[in-house]
Amino acid sequence: MDPAGSVRGRFAPSPSGNIHIGNALAALMAWLQIRSRNGKLVLRMEDIDTARCRPEYARHIVEDLRWLGLDWDEGPDVGGPYGPYVQSERLKLYEAALDRLKAGGRLYPCYCSRHDILAAAAAPHGLASEGPVYPGTCRHLSPEEAGRRSLSKTPSLRFAVPSGEISFTDGVAGNRRINAAAGGDFIVRRADGIFSYQLAVVVDDALMGITDVLRGADLLDSTPRQLMLYEALGWKPPRFAHVPLLMDRDGRRLAKRHGGITLAELREAGVAPQTVTGWLAWAAGLLPEPLQVSPDDLIQSFRLERISRDDNVVTPDMLGRLHPSLGQQEK
Ligand code: GLU
Ligand code: ZN
Repeated sequence: MDPAGSVRGRFAPSPSGNIHIGNALAALMAWLQIRSRNGKLVLRMEDIDTARCRPEYARHIVEDLRWLGLDWDEGPDVGGPYGPYVQSERLKLYEAALDRLKAGGRLYPCYCSRHDILAAAAAPHGLASEGPVYPGTCRHLSPEEAGRRSLSKTPSLRFAVPSGEISFTDGVAGNRRINAAAGGDFIVRRADGIFSYQLAVVVDDALMGITDVLRGADLLDSTPRQLMLYEALGWKPPRFAHVPLLMDRDGRRLAKRHGGITLAELREAGVAPQTVTGWLAWAAGLLPEPLQVSPDDLIQSFRLERISRDDNVVTPDMLGRLHPSLGQQEK
């Protein structure tokens, strides 16, 4: 057993909608990983993209996670020594990290519009979660040229990705090795002043002492960028584990499907939280059958290695085990 509190994990939802079963699966796995190791859990609201986030969603997320039977040791609602636990209240910390990156010569201003980037010859598709690869247009602007452009446009700030390979071992996905330049130089602060997810998440995980990040596999390809930021800021990175997403039979993420399936809907339909927990554990490969269980019941037998490594294809029959009406709807 790890010494009490030496392991620290987190849930980091964005309050831009209600929690759907895909988020709930990642939250349950993160909770089990930390609770099975006697660690501390942090809830952090990632509301940095203020245009997409709303306080009422943050309230619903807290309610829904508690309804499912999850809890946390630190967070916006319970406080703790590493607060604030809401990104919109941590802007000074992001600014300070940005200043250090700037002072180290790791950033440059970019004057391109999204349209310019899309139009750049042969822009290949970038990281799945990040849009097209930035071709590096502004990396070598002369100071005079940058100065001239800054008169008519506020630039975004990009991190100049070093050459070489990034490798890491993911607790679920295994060994990964990628060419650092593959995703292009990425934005750390948008032209409208909003700090990027990549910067904010690294600053927060580092300053909150997070040792273990467990999250959905949609963020696996953001991990190399985050590792580069840890390196540039001189911080020790956490261990990462990315759990497979819930997919429909056509290979689309269930979360993106029209309407999704939210915990709030299941609760309103009269589904018990133990039914949802058992179903999630079954979908993740931790239970042979969707039994009724509480998160506590799963702690003893939890092992990261037991989480399935493949995309979880959710069939209508499987959805029917969650609630009969979901099985029919899909057919
Ligand atoms: N806030 C991100 C999301 O809701 C998750 C960030 C993370 O776990 O690193 O997708
Ligand atoms: Zn540019």
